[in-house]
Amino acid sequence: MKYVVVTGGVISGVGKGIIASSTGLLLKTMGLAVTMIKIDPYMNIDAGTMAPTEHGEVFVLGDGGEVDLDLGNYERYLNITLTRDHNLTTGKIYQHVIQQERAGYYLGQTVQIIPHLTNAIESWITRIAKIPVDETGAEPDVCVIELGGTIGDIENAPFVEALKQLRMRAGVDNFLHIHVSFIPVVNGEQKTKPTQHTIRVVRSAGLHPDLIACRCVDMIDDSTIQKVANHCQVEPSQVIAVQNVQSTYLVPALLEKQGLVQSMTELLRLAPSPVRMAKGSKMWEKWKTITSIRDYRQTVSIALVGKYTNFLDSYISLIRSLEHSAMVCERNLKLVPVDSSHLESGTQSTNPEAYNQAWQAVRSAQGILVPGGFGSRGTEGMINAIKWARESKTPFLGICLGMQLAVVEYMRNVCNRPTATSAEFDGMATDPVVIYMPEIDRAKMGGTMRLGVRPTRFQAGSEWSKVRKLYAGSMLGSLGEGIDGLQAPGSLPAESALTESAIATAADPVIQERHRHRYEVNPACIQSLEDCGLHFIGRDDSGQRMEVLELKDHPWFVAVQFHPEYISKVLSPSRPVLGFLAASAGCLELIENVHMV
Ligand code: GLN
Repeated sequence: MKYVVVTGGVISGVGKGIIASSTGLLLKTMGLAVTMIKIDPYMNIDAGTMAPTEHGEVFVLGDGGEVDLDLGNYERYLNITLTRDHNLTTGKIYQHVIQQERAGYYLGQTVQIIPHLTNAIESWITRIAKIPVDETGAEPDVCVIELGGTIGDIENAPFVEALKQLRMRAGVDNFLHIHVSFIPVVNGEQKTKPTQHTIRVVRSAGLHPDLIACRCVDMIDDSTIQKVANHCQVEPSQVIAVQNVQSTYLVPALLEKQGLVQSMTELLRLAPSPVRMAKGSKMWEKWKTITSIRDYRQTVSIALVGKYTNFLDSYISLIRSLEHSAMVCERNLKLVPVDSSHLESGTQSTNPEAYNQAWQAVRSAQGILVPGGFGSRGTEGMINAIKWARESKTPFLGICLGMQLAVVEYMRNVCNRPTATSAEFDGMATDPVVIYMPEIDRAKMGGTMRLGVRPTRFQAGSEWSKVRKLYAGSMLGSLGEGIDGLQAPGSLPAESALTESAIATAADPVIQERHRHRYEVNPACIQSLEDCGLHFIGRDDSGQRMEVLELKDHPWFVAVQFHPEYISKVLSPSRPVLGFLAASAGCLELIENVHMV
């Protein structure tokens, strides 16, 4: 096993995750099997109880693990499927060691951070690195490990110590360290002092970076590279410049251009087989083609009506899935975040300007998206936006909370039950159309939702459904041909890279998508809603839990209880998101027709 360790210094949040993912992708283009581990030095067991407004989205894995959003990047860039154990936190490793201590594993010993905790970290890494993560089922050749925080933090000191141990044990040819630094620009001058300082800190902690990746808002001058090399006693070829680029999808190519593939091959003595290399480079060409920025002739505008809109990292997977779909539909994506509370009548009196602006954004958007969320704030505004999308026949997609609210809206305004609401907003509700799921533990908070992959079965008689059609078969190949015929030729992937969920055949109309929720549509309300024309076309195996709803006489009105955005990939966009975006852009028919051929 070879290890590539990515650490950071100077400041946090400079894009270490994207650099780590891009490095993983480049290793994959060399035909290697690659896995990734994220270390988060916080005390939480996992990210499940953390606020999205502070930490960004909680990413959900297939096994139900609630993890750091970087794991979403890893899965998307490398097209791999990770487990909860691929995200190691201080909380998890302490819990593990303490459980072992209680079980008598260390009888007679004084349990200490060094060596017991560091040994536990090292053996966790070596164990998890071996887990196959791609469709080949092969044991990975390389494991990329990203260490959260910055070196020098008290919190990540035990992890740094464990990585030192790992380096010794793996041997220098099997361990490559990339340290990500930041070059500030002061009065037009690129400053290297913080980088010199952070390299000194890393070295005094006992690690020896092989490569220094310098983040900078501007292009980094050759003289700056030379200065970093001189002061840090490395070759200029060991300094990689990572300036801001138009899209994070371009970072892998930026690193490749600076010889990262070459450096990794030499430093890790990599020798991938020619057959695997050919496969990897084919995938790389496809990636570069579809992600290369083009200014498309047309734009599609989507209003994202949510409550976490002032920190868009809260919706990162969703935004990525919209981008994946926009690339396939060859449209520029214009995302308009709308704070849903501004759509409420209360705001009309307190802040009429915000109210008018928000409604203007909703009315002028080509598609309305109501994403997942928790709590009651802003939900009346979301319901107002859904009503507008339904009545004005504007394409609509509701996800999780968005689906629950679509049901509330329909019950109130179409089935004429004006007091209908969700038990999440009113525990004493007289007409709860969304209720707490019976199996959910009300006493505990961490990891107690309905989490991870669950099957959804399309119901008999739902063959008319637009979203069901998109889920059927190996659609992307034909979609590529279809859109190519209409737009710029040769720009789409010829083959699909279908993953986890994406096929529902007529014989087995079942899909697998990831979930994260505590509430569900009240089974006692289904008949009334269906009688009024709301069709629950996808349900769980018991038939009692609603998963997908759709309206018939609407260009695209679909809502799903699961989160389709979590498994969306550049080369295989999420079907409900793709259908929604295509309907908003006015090219859904083309996709459907192509598919039916
Ligand atoms: N708050 C809702 C629930 O718990 C929706 C959750 C979500 O949107 N992820 O069911």
